[in-house]
Parts: sequence; structure tokens; C-alpha cells
Amino acid sequence: LATVALTEQNADMTKAGHPVVSNSPRSDNFRPHVVILGSGFGGLFAAKALNDRRVRVTLISRTTHHLFQPLLYQVATGILSEGEIAPATREVLRGQRNVQVLLGDVDAVDLNTRTVSWRLRQEEMCTHFDYLIVATGAEGSYFGNNGYGRFAPGMKSVDDALELRGRIFGAFELAEVTTDPAERERQLTFVVVGAGPTGVEMAGQIAELSRRTLKKDFRAINPREARVVLVDGAVEILPSFGESLGTKARAQLERMGVEVRVSTVVAHLDETGVTLRASDGAEEFVPSACKIWAAGVSANPLGQAIADQTGAAVDRAGRVMVEPDCSLPGDPHVFVVGDLMTLHNYPGVAQVAIQSARHVAKLILGEVKRGEAAPTTHEQSSERSERHPFVYKDKGSMATISRFSAVASIGRARFGGFVAWLLWLVIHLVYIIGFKRQLTTLIHWAVSFFGRGRSERTITRQQIAGRLALEELGHDFPRPSSSA
Ligand SMILES: Cc1cc2nc3c(=O)[nH]c(=O)nc-3n(C[C@H](O)[C@H](O)[C@H](O)COP(=O)(O)OP(=O)(O)OC[C@H]3O[C@@H](n4cnc5c(N)ncnc54)[C@H](O)[C@@H]3O)c2cc1C
Repeated sequence: LATVALTEQNADMTKAGHPVVSNSPRSDNFRPHVVILGSGFGGLFAAKALNDRRVRVTLISRTTHHLFQPLLYQVATGILSEGEIAPATREVLRGQRNVQVLLGDVDAVDLNTRTVSWRLRQEEMCTHFDYLIVATGAEGSYFGNNGYGRFAPGMKSVDDALELRGRIFGAFELAEVTTDPAERERQLTFVVVGAGPTGVEMAGQIAELSRRTLKKDFRAINPREARVVLVDGAVEILPSFGESLGTKARAQLERMGVEVRVSTVVAHLDETGVTLRASDGAEEFVPSACKIWAAGVSANPLGQAIADQTGAAVDRAGRVMVEPDCSLPGDPHVFVVGDLMTLHNYPGVAQVAIQSARHVAKLILGEVKRGEAAPTTHEQSSERSERHPFVYKDKGSMATISRFSAVASIGRARFGGFVAWLLWLVIHLVYIIGFKRQLTTLIHWAVSFFGRGRSERTITRQQIAGRLALEELGHDFPRPSSSA
């Protein structure tokens, strides 16, 4: 962190009023400053689309990487390494001289002073913006039962995936050493809550792991006896894919040995297991050491915080109801994109985030090229010019069930099996950033899909949280100071 060129109206200051020490790229008086919050699909693609010397761009995110969330489940189940799906944002944008990437946690946005307050460890910063793009996405939701999170991690971050990897592979290790048959069964029972694409992919992968990958690795247990239970309150799995594909996917999972429990909700969940409640009210306790939460999302709290300042509405999940151009109602120079916005019931998927980010970047560049003055106050900002609405082009959705098998919904076409899987493979490969990562991903996929191996089975101290939860059950698990 070094110096920033300060201007009268466009100075970056710490909260205490000291200039922010930052390596500002060509900071100057003349170029509007676009601040982007978040380095997910929305934030990164907005920054890329703002590759124009007429704007100065600062991207602030709480992670140093851009995360390809759709492949998190492959990190959790040992197929891919975290580096393959999480390239450093700084590296991705290094050729773009008008962009500065900053690591920081954004605490607040003040629309009156046109500032973003953020911090990195003890350093508290304040950055001015002319245009703001908020792309801080969504977080997992336990529907008010936040205590479940300790025993059933969600899957939103690299940390989540690595912790789950530790818990999944760790459960097989513990089952191998326990002499109590009931405890062994508990260790070998995996419950996945939520049967959307993530839950289906996780359940399918754990089943494959136990039936193929690990089948010869243990001596005291037979990993093929592992029980995988997939639970969802809906009447069919993969509700967004339509009934026929849901039924098809369910049949495939059941052939692989997954127990699919639809019309069933979680009544209680703790370290010992899960109590399931069927639609007729019948309850069943499933002893399980490893639970995975793949149900529900809630918007990042920054959405509510900025909406409150202009009186904009948020939906039940806390997503900001944006104007048709993705701007914040009441402040046309502040935009909300991706999972944090809601517009025309567009789904919370990567393509909506990418396309909305590109749309907003194009609008901003258009205004800058036309010489429309960037506002310096919230009042000035409420004057808006006519803008094109954002229209999402649905390219379809897909989910893998096992190797060589996926389901796809593209336009009116619904299909499953090998062709869908091949399509899934190509599309995901295209969106992995960087040739080297694409190459190593392809090699890892070949190892897992054609062979029996998984290249990324390492469990490290990063899974301490998972271990501690297991330790509380009285198992002689390694202390955090020892290595696995
Ligand atoms: C497990 C999983 C599987 C998925 N599978 C698919 C799929 O197969 N296909 C598909 O299309 N979509 C899928 N999605 C959805 C897709 O990943 C999201 O729609 C997309 O990531 C949304 O992009 P975004 O930029 O809005 O938010 P995100 O990608 O979530 O990015 C949010 C960014 O904001 C940062 N951030 C958050 N809060 C702060 C803060 N206070 N300060 C600073 N930075 C902050 C985060 O670090 C992150 O960089 C999946 C999602 C998950 C979790």
C-alpha cells in the first residue's frame, strides 16, 4: 500500500481523515471513478467490461480470488484443487491498467457522501465513487436455524469446500478405526439437505466416491456400504429443471444407491444426526456424522443497507429490487448486479450475474463517452438519463449427477445422459479462467472420470473447524497442532 493522488472531490481517505494509502492506478481529476464491490461473476465481469482508459476502476473484495462456485462440489469431493476454480483476481486483471484490485471487507456505503467504508485488518478505509457497482452476491441460509451451520456446513466459499472435504474423507477415516458398529454406521451416513443442482451433485459425488474411488482403500470397513441421503421439501428433486428431468435425475441417483427423500424437511439437526419430518408429519432420526447444507440463500446484507438509504424495496431473501437498467431505485449511479439484485424473477445463476454486469458496464461507458457529468452528491445522482433495460438471455441450465451423466434444460429442450454431460463439461471448461487451469482441470477430470482416482484428497489444518466438531464427540482426533 503506497500513495494515492488526491483530488478535491475524489479523494480516498481513511475514516480518521488520513489519505488512503493505495497504489491507485493513474488516479486523476478527469476520469470518473467506478468502484466495484465483490470479485464474483458480477464484480469480475464488470471490471473486465470496463476496460477503457476513460474510467478509473477500483474493485474491492473480501477474497483475493474470483470463485467459480459451480465447481465447489468438486473441490469438496477431491476432484479439483481450490486453485483451479479460484484464480487470483489480481492476476486475472493484471493486464487492465485502469483497474486496481483491493482486498477488503466492505462495512458500509454512504450514498450522501458517495463513499464506501471498508477495512483490511486494523486499517479502516473510505473510498469515494462516482459510479458504484454492488456485486456482493448471496450467502447460505439456514432459514433461521443458524446453529445448524456448525454441524452442516454450506457450500459458498473455498473454506466451506475444504472443510467439507475434511469432513467427508475424515468420516471414512473415523469409521475405519471405530469398533462400535452403530458409530461406524453413523460415520458412514452422509445427509445432503437441499436437492437443487448443488445438492444433487454433492450426493452423486459422495456416492461415486464411496462406490468407486474408495472401494479398495480401507481394510476394516467397506466404503461401498456408505449411506447417502438426499433430502428436500419439494415433491421432486431439481424443481427448476421441470418434472421429467427431476424424475430422470432421481432414478439415476437411486441406481447409484442414493436415498432420495422428497416432500421431507429437516425438523432438527445436531452433531449426532438429523431428524427428518415427512409431509404426513412422521419423524425419523438419521444418525449421521457428516451433514451438508445445500438449501436456501439469503442476500448479502449490503443490499438491505443501500436499499434503506433510498427507500428501495428488497424481497424476502434481501435482494434489492432494481430498476430495469439494474440501478438502485432513487440513485441511478449506483447499480446492483448478480445474486444481490432481483429483476423479472431472473434466477440466481452465473449468467445473470455476468450479463447484468456487462450491461451496467456498457451503460457507464456510454455515459462517460457522451460526457455526461458524474454526480458528486446523492441529490444530483437522482437525475437520470434514458437507459436501455437489462434483458437476460437464458442460455439454459445443467447439473451433473455422476460421471458421464447430467441433465440439461436449454430453451424448450430437456435432455439427460451422456450428451448433457459432455455439454456440461465443455461449458464449464470454457468458463474456467486461464489455459493452465483449463489444462489441469481436464487432467483431473480424466483421472476421476476415466480412472478411479481423485487427485485432491489432502486434508490439512484448514479443516480444523470440522475436526473440532468431530472431536467434541469424544473421538481421539488429532489436535489442531498436529498435522494430518
Ligand atoms: C455451490 C454453488 C453451485 C452453483 N452452481 C451453479 C451452476 O451450476 N450454474 C450457475 O449458473 N450458477 C451456479 N451457482 C450460482 C452462481 O455461482 C451465482 O449466481 C454467481 O456466483 C453470482 O455471482 P455474484 O457476483 O452476484 O456473487 P458471488 O459470485 O457470490 O460473488 C460475491 C463477491 O462479493 C464478495 N463480498 C461479499 N461480501 C463482501 C463484503 N462485505 N465486502 C467485500 N466483498 C464482499 C465475495 O467475496 C465475492 O467475491 C452456484 C452457486 C453455488 C454457491
